[in-house]
Amino acid sequence: MQIQTTKAIETEQIGEALGRNLRGGEVIELVGDLGSGKTTFTRGLARGIGSLDNVSSPTFTISKVYKSKPLEIHHFDLYRLQEAGLIEHELAEIADDDNSVIVVEWAEIAAHVLPKKRLIINFSHTGEDQRTLNFSFSKNLEYLVKNLPGT
Ligand code: ADP
Ligand code: MG
Repeated sequence: MQIQTTKAIETEQIGEALGRNLRGGEVIELVGDLGSGKTTFTRGLARGIGSLDNVSSPTFTISKVYKSKPLEIHHFDLYRLQEAGLIEHELAEIADDDNSVIVVEWAEIAAHVLPKKRLIINFSHTGEDQRTLNFSFSKNLEYLVKNLPGT
């Protein structure tokens, strides 16, 4: 499945719609170059679960949490991480929590501890303000992409 956006707000709105479909326990991997819209999308996800927390790339802090009730989003950016080490335990613990959702940018270093059943979204910069989002997921996660704008 593929969606194109032509403004940052549209990418955020797709995130918001997907955020409303979250049930807890999901893992979402965001793949794409710097500036391709991964954090913009995550801002929408946070709004979609009803969180008003400030969303920004956790490049220096590795992770941030956006809280709402009952769900919370744990947003990871593993770009600067040299080895998966402690993060593996943290990811595994959060993955066991039914009210938590994991969103990971630059997941490569920890990909081996992420569940196979995850939603992977590939972001590509296809024009100045155009981004193309490609969704891949197993059948049991189809509910996540219901009613997204542009589909
Ligand atoms: P990443 O997390 O992938 O590095 P960001 O979401 O932080 O990317 O940055 C994306 C940048 O591109 C923002 O400055 C945003 O305003 C801009 N932008 C322009 N068009 C779009 C679009 N269609 N979708 C998402 N971001 C866009
Ligand atoms: Mg980012």
